[in-house]
Amino acid sequence: MSNSRRFVSKLFQNFGRVEPEGSSQTCQSQILMQYNDIVESCHSGCYVMLPFGQRALDKLVRVVDEEMQAIGGQKISLPTLAPAKLWKKSERWDDALNELFTLKDRHNVQYCLGPTHEELVTNLMAMYSPISEKRLPIKFYQITRKFRDEMKPKHLLLRGREFEMKDMYSFDASESEARETYDIVCESYSRLFSRLELPFAKVEGATGNIGGSISHEFHLMSSVGEDKLLFCEKCSFRSNSELVKDQSTVCPTCDADCQLRTSPGIEIGHTFLLGTKYSSVFKSTCMKSDRGIDLTHMGCYGIGVSRLLQGSVEVLSSENKIRWPRLIAPYQICILPHKGIKAAAEQYLATSLTLSDALNVMPNLKHEVVIDDRQQISLGKRLFDAKRLGYPYIIVVGKRIQENPPIFEIIETSTNESHFLSIDSLKDFLSTVETI
Ligand SMILES: [Zn+2]
Repeated sequence: MSNSRRFVSKLFQNFGRVEPEGSSQTCQSQILMQYNDIVESCHSGCYVMLPFGQRALDKLVRVVDEEMQAIGGQKISLPTLAPAKLWKKSERWDDALNELFTLKDRHNVQYCLGPTHEELVTNLMAMYSPISEKRLPIKFYQITRKFRDEMKPKHLLLRGREFEMKDMYSFDASESEARETYDIVCESYSRLFSRLELPFAKVEGATGNIGGSISHEFHLMSSVGEDKLLFCEKCSFRSNSELVKDQSTVCPTCDADCQLRTSPGIEIGHTFLLGTKYSSVFKSTCMKSDRGIDLTHMGCYGIGVSRLLQGSVEVLSSENKIRWPRLIAPYQICILPHKGIKAAAEQYLATSLTLSDALNVMPNLKHEVVIDDRQQISLGKRLFDAKRLGYPYIIVVGKRIQENPPIFEIIETSTNESHFLSIDSLKDFLSTVETI
């Protein structure tokens, strides 16, 4: 039982670091995450996920997994080393070369560290071709490290050179079925971002080096975003400004005096309806009952998972307090025993340990509870620390535990509301907390 107790004094946390004078950090989430020991910047465009950051990232990966599995996604894992031969076959090597990390093995065979995997996955499908149309659609996905030699890495995880990405690739028997699959994946993206309580927008996007006929981008609305988005208030026109000719701010589908609203966004997802661009090159085919062998119709769908993690903190937090999407907070609950003197202090700590044990056996709260046992520090200071780190729930154990029944104060940090509850009511209250 006691192994499940987590003490703040033992966590890699609360080093009390502050942003140095004249530091070049320019966005709120970078300051919050770096100086609260969530993520450490390592070298250009690369970072270390510290324990709190890794816990949040692991949870985010589980949420993404759930949503991908819910639409029939089948998880795979492709190699990070992608042969140049395949990228040359799809004629992407030369165009993408500036942003690829390339290397050669001892036999002088050239590779890149994959930034995206259309070539490898379509080549995989070709090995099983022709595949019966009865098996389609196939939706492969993976959540792995990707690499891009960014000209200007910045804002920590928002624009890194090595990052966590979810990439899905769909294969269908016809264009219309591929379009249906495309819509289903886009809907799952909207569900995912809604579950994370994020303000997001879906806009038309550019197809760029990946290609295809239809593309959408999902953005978090934030002034830190490097993309400029255009919205029409009268019709459904929503687009990345890259797609609009001459940087016009007039809606292309409405009348001439309909001005578009512009807003910056952080791109967190990008979807492409690819058609047969890759399947024709690699010969990914399917067997149809009526028409024999035909090329598969593809889609590809990315989510920048590590960027989404920091982007969430960017849009949800205030200047000095981290706020996570509640579902992925590193820990859900922080228990704060009052300082007290001698016997009282011991009683507050002992009650906190018992409370932690009681919560840890609840199915939704296993490993979600920490105890801030630093009783030499004032309650006010520790309360400030707990709010700063964004635990969704803080439970204060103080004088009122001497009442009959004992009373605990629980603070919901999203609303800053306090409730005074007995242990039974507290457990009822917390039994509804959704965790992953
Ligand atoms: Zn319009």
